[in-house]
Amino acid sequence: MKAARFTAGDKSLDLLDVPTPEPGPLEVRVRIQACGICLSDVHLIDGSIPAIVPQVIPGHEPSGIVDKVGELVPGWKPGDRAVLAGGRSCGRCRNCTIGRDEDCLAFQIMGFHYDGSWAEYVTVPYFAMTPLPEGIPFEQAAILADAVATPYAALIDRGGLKPGESVGLWGIGGLGTHAVQLARLCGASFIVAVDPLASARERALSLGADLALDPLSQDVPGEIRGATGGLGLDLTLDLVGANAVLQQCVSSLGHGGRAVMVGLSLEHVQLERSLLFGVMKHSVLGHLGYQRRHLDDLVKLLAAGRLDLSASISDVIPLDDVVDGVRRLAEKEGDPVRIMVAPMNA
Ligand SMILES: [Zn+2]
Ligand SMILES: [Zn+2]
Repeated sequence: MKAARFTAGDKSLDLLDVPTPEPGPLEVRVRIQACGICLSDVHLIDGSIPAIVPQVIPGHEPSGIVDKVGELVPGWKPGDRAVLAGGRSCGRCRNCTIGRDEDCLAFQIMGFHYDGSWAEYVTVPYFAMTPLPEGIPFEQAAILADAVATPYAALIDRGGLKPGESVGLWGIGGLGTHAVQLARLCGASFIVAVDPLASARERALSLGADLALDPLSQDVPGEIRGATGGLGLDLTLDLVGANAVLQQCVSSLGHGGRAVMVGLSLEHVQLERSLLFGVMKHSVLGHLGYQRRHLDDLVKLLAAGRLDLSASISDVIPLDDVVDGVRRLAEKEGDPVRIMVAPMNA
């Protein structure tokens, strides 16, 4: 099969013919119809996120059609449509071996720990797949697997968002764009979006944010206190992954507020307001990914028309053009939300 493979040694991404993977007894082989290009792929390829294995096929935001089913897999058959979770439990750690695989201690991310979906085929455990009803485009389904599910889990689970609360979102790119829509869907009473790009701020306002701020030219925590009657926010998300952003997230919190670190960063976590942090009962929470049930929720919301992701598909490109797709996202050319790779359309 054709695949794009990343080599950590020289940071190259090459289009190659590689052996088509065979599914194990509990695995399913899926013919990829769409897979997103994520900023974390950009960061793997440019070396700012350390590589976990020497060579890997990136791509952790896939949807496709079941091609071959392992002998012990229940329920799935060739031709079924599916969205694939962008990670899997290890199956071997203490929690996995007592059936608590959702609390896996050695969770593996597709396209980082094991081969992903910038390829014609991928194999995944059957329990990492959510059925996809007819009528949902593969491109929109695919982005559920990271750009939508990750902020969804961060908002409702890690962040504990409750209806009526106020929310601040830093970084209105692939994840933040959907965080605006989801915060609105989940009943946030006030949503502020923070991004240095004017086009990203406009997008946030058009999708339901009440206020959009430019961190380069505005006093963000001051503006937020002004807009909330001096109270500050209940929940803030750092979707960028930078300590300066996390500091603003904490500085913008109200009493009992929670800041969730969603964007990945190698920087030290440092906070300025140490006294207020205790007095105001603030929390800073780390976050990664989501669980399969979040993907199940989102497929239902998409199928029911509660969630409209049509504006999120910035472009669909053949696998042959994936290197240029990575460059376009890295340079924010045209401010893309998601550029999708469609391997089987090549
Ligand atoms: Zn991602
Ligand atoms: Zn495990």
